[in-house]
Amino acid sequence: MIKVVKFGGSSLASAEQFTKVGNIIRDDINRRYVVPSAPGKRDAKDTKVTDMLYKCYELASAKEPGEKFIAQLEAIEDRYQQIIDGLGLKLSLAEEFKTIKENFLANAGSDYAASRGEYLNGIIMAKYLGYTFIDSAEVIKFTENGDFDSELTNQILSAKLKEHEKAVIPGFYGSYPDGKIKTFSRGGSDITGSIVARACKADVYENWTDVSGFLIADPRIIKNPEAIDTITYKELRELSYMGATVLHEDAIFPVRREGIPINIRNTNAPKDKGTWIVESTCQKSKYTITGIAGKKGFCSINIEKDMMNSEIGFGRKVLQAFEDAGISFEHMPSGIDTMTIFAHQDEFMDKEQQVVSAIHRLADPDIIEIESDLALIAVVGRGMKSTRGTAGRIFSALAHANVNVKMIDQGSSELNIIIGVANEDFETAIEAIYNIFVLARI
Ligand code: ASP
Repeated sequence: MIKVVKFGGSSLASAEQFTKVGNIIRDDINRRYVVPSAPGKRDAKDTKVTDMLYKCYELASAKEPGEKFIAQLEAIEDRYQQIIDGLGLKLSLAEEFKTIKENFLANAGSDYAASRGEYLNGIIMAKYLGYTFIDSAEVIKFTENGDFDSELTNQILSAKLKEHEKAVIPGFYGSYPDGKIKTFSRGGSDITGSIVARACKADVYENWTDVSGFLIADPRIIKNPEAIDTITYKELRELSYMGATVLHEDAIFPVRREGIPINIRNTNAPKDKGTWIVESTCQKSKYTITGIAGKKGFCSINIEKDMMNSEIGFGRKVLQAFEDAGISFEHMPSGIDTMTIFAHQDEFMDKEQQVVSAIHRLADPDIIEIESDLALIAVVGRGMKSTRGTAGRIFSALAHANVNVKMIDQGSSELNIIIGVANEDFETAIEAIYNIFVLARI
């Protein structure tokens, strides 16, 4: 059995956290491939090493990088030294930091700079565990255009992993064909973990973080929300898209190809089962809904035209106006003689009049009205398909909470119901929906 374990920044922010991680890994001999992030925040006021590195590189790129650059680099070195000392390791990163300093001054690039966070943490982790260190630059490959080269990577990485029974592969970065370092987008160590899991055909990809799984709702809105036991890739995609963050969105794809489940776990509460993210399951979720997520900051463009219903091509013309302005739309509920387009307000605002005049020109509607400061909430659950009355419960809960529903969109997959409300009703609406399904269990 092979388990790939990825640890997030907060799990590796200090020697104390490293010790917890060491215990977790030693607790199960199947935890053979380890993907570390860079040290994260030790407390709310702290700075992630990745952010320190970006800053440091900025200072190094100044016309005359001086004391500030050196001080920042020393502060980073100090973070690692504290971990090394705290773990009582015999390890010096002096040579590494000498090279890093030279490369920073030689303009090695901000991706190179940021990647050193995971690289150095990987060296410490390998030493601490007695595992082999594999530099991700050698095994995670990008094309010349900067796209992740999944097949080449899989080939190189799976061959490499076969040579080593236990290894540490730092997260977040890889290299271009010429060897130059390239990172994934922020939070990208999740992707590395998934790539490693695919390459060794792992039985499970454990993603260790600082919460006990994927929560049913945002903890900033709901106090101590319950964690989801099992969620499908599809449900996760819906929730992540609507703003729920635990796992990098792209982390799903490599494991999905091999049907490898992801288990989100909490380094600070290792006994908690966490959330299982799976391809498909016959397990019913505990509640009718699996999760709720949402985002503020949308606007709606309501378009009316008499007899719109029978005018073939009307929708296409309206969407053409959005396409020409380079604006993607989020939802498009429609009535008999009306249709509404939801778009991100900040994206739409700058091009508002351009789009409106284009709709007039292309589709000749009677009225166009714009409404701003709207929020969209997705209520997601595979259980909805087989349960009657889900929508009814949502809307009566919202009515009781005095929330006016401005839009409803239910996809034909019956996996989610999207609700539009005013920004100011956003939190109340989420609370009302959470309460009715999770607390009241009706
Ligand atoms: N250290 C990187 C970041 O802060 C990548 C990661 O942690 O996954 O975004």
